[in-house]
Amino acid sequence: MNPVRVRFAPSPTGPLHIGGLRTALYNYLLARRTGGTFILRIEDTDQKRYVEGAEDYIMEALEWCGISPDESPRKGGNYGPYRQSERRDIYARYVKELLDNGSAYLAFDTEEELTERREQEKAAGNHNFRYDASTRDSMRNSLSLSEGETKALLEAKTPHVVRFRIDPGETVSFTDTVREEVSFQSNELGDQVLMKADGLPTYHLANIVDDHLMEITHVIRGEEWLPSTALHVLLYRAFGWEAPVFAHLPLLLNPNGKGKLSKRKGADLGFPVFPLEWNDPVKEETFAGFREDGYLPEAVVNFLSLLGWNPGTEQEVFSLEELTQAFSLDRITKSGARFDIEKGKWFNQQY
Ligand code: GLU
Repeated sequence: MNPVRVRFAPSPTGPLHIGGLRTALYNYLLARRTGGTFILRIEDTDQKRYVEGAEDYIMEALEWCGISPDESPRKGGNYGPYRQSERRDIYARYVKELLDNGSAYLAFDTEEELTERREQEKAAGNHNFRYDASTRDSMRNSLSLSEGETKALLEAKTPHVVRFRIDPGETVSFTDTVREEVSFQSNELGDQVLMKADGLPTYHLANIVDDHLMEITHVIRGEEWLPSTALHVLLYRAFGWEAPVFAHLPLLLNPNGKGKLSKRKGADLGFPVFPLEWNDPVKEETFAGFREDGYLPEAVVNFLSLLGWNPGTEQEVFSLEELTQAFSLDRITKSGARFDIEKGKWFNQQY
């Protein structure tokens, strides 16, 4: 088995959610436990959602917790994470590979045309219009148009996206370390956009190209990414690459145990030392921040480590070093973990 290589891959779209910090921690613990490598990769290809300063905020949060990445693309002391916005040529190359092998196609439909089509479908009683095998023939793309028409559109520099061609009627199955056997129907996925009209890749494409090139062995991330994994499995296949091991972490639940822990209920780790303009109307209602409230990093790490991982013993108080010794993927719990801040306070008293 290859040495473990894991990554934390946040999008710099706002304050780091506490669930994101837990994801980073679990990745880090697995790397430390196995003598592997932990990478930080900033997934910043969605320029509409990009928030200035969020990357620094993420790095500071990790540093405060003692979760330090092992690798940097910048050699010679100029430390920094991998950044997807600096890798666009790489993604363009791989998109071309999918176009060349018939797994992807060009789509020229404008936003207006798509909205209009959606409205028409709705008026006809279909509320779930999807760009997929059942509708693509009636859209403007390189599969429905003649070669000459496509060429003319390209020559006229008509804006277009690249879509993934997904065959209908297939059951996509994969094994998840936490969820065991997971299946999705390919019909549910739709022909997802891989490259946007601005030439930047979408999350799906950049994420799997990087996981492959960075030789990631284990993808550990929140359960909300489970449906995306089906699509990723199809993308790995289209490239002829082996998929990594997946482990999807249980949801963090609100303190009352009902519903997903939300920003509104105070899930953000709002470090006051970074007076960032988050452009976020609910900021006033977000959790004031562990650090602001005088929590010790050790207590936060300890608290987070047990939100979704069961050490299998009575021990509750762990140092980062002890966690490193004890952590294993097969003890990640399936059911959602209640974000009980009273327990968090209790941990803080232990240090
Ligand atoms: N960029 C995604 C996020 O913001 C990463 C998900 C993943 O780990 O694949 O969470």
